Amino acid sequence: MKSVVFVFIALGLVSCGSSTRLGGPSTSLRMTPGAHHDNALHHDTRISVVTTFSTLNSFVEAVGGSYVTVHNLVPIGASPETYQPTPQDIATLADAQLLVENGTGIEVWLQHTIATASNPNLRILILSDGLKHIDHNPHLWMDPFLASLYVGKVARALSLMDPPHTSVYQRNAAAYQQKLAALQDEIAKAIATIPPQRRTMIVFHNAWQYYNDRFGIRTVGVIEVSPGQEPNPSYIASLVDLARKYNVRAVFSEPEYSPKIAQALAKSAGIRTVSDLYDDSIANNARVHDYISMLRYDTGVIVKALK
Ligand SMILES: [Zn+2]
Repeated sequence: MKSVVFVFIALGLVSCGSSTRLGGPSTSLRMTPGAHHDNALHHDTRISVVTTFSTLNSFVEAVGGSYVTVHNLVPIGASPETYQPTPQDIATLADAQLLVENGTGIEVWLQHTIATASNPNLRILILSDGLKHIDHNPHLWMDPFLASLYVGKVARALSLMDPPHTSVYQRNAAAYQQKLAALQDEIAKAIATIPPQRRTMIVFHNAWQYYNDRFGIRTVGVIEVSPGQEPNPSYIASLVDLARKYNVRAVFSEPEYSPKIAQALAKSAGIRTVSDLYDDSIANNARVHDYISMLRYDTGVIVKALK
């Protein structure tokens, strides 16, 4: 911890030409070009945090509590992969103190938005930095264990910006990490009720890689391999073959995507379509209102479809 603080202070003193990034597997905060920060905030008010998408809000809210305000850029129900930022997003970033992004390429539109907002006081935390990822798949948060690492990074970032409340952030993070550990156990138990040979999924987009790896579900196929790119008929036919070969019982998708291709594939394979999984976005309803309720809901849906 001490070394991270030291590095941060050192960064605060360098004159910034281009955007600076601190490496290492722990927390790194980027500074925007031309930034000349104080080492810590001198604030009586709350830290204004902007997240890129709503699933990440829970981590910041849980750790920051009453010392932060949290606003997400990608609206609930929209996809962060294909998002088109608005002028309001630029205004939001221009006023923010901390931007929390997932990274690993999911927010392809973000660099331009940050540059346009041109906010010299903006600090940037990239949650997936330094974590091992599979095939550049950005959906690390879908594994509660990796989500717990995200939470630790949020606590370190807020502590660097607001040292007087370090113990509060650490305590809040530890409490939330405990909830995530309990959630992980709960999901493992629920998945264990599915017969092993039925623990297979075909998914619309591969938000499920890390969740499936954690809980022993085989990702048999992915319909949309790169965001916004429609698969061709021969690829769909190969997924139908895989569905039969591995006895897949359902094709899983999210409400933000058109169900047409998933439905056509499911029909050809003679299996079900499940179109209400949440991963890149929480929902505007009480059942899926934050990260924990989202994973709990999704797990219920998956177990019901595969059991
Ligand atoms: Zn996604």
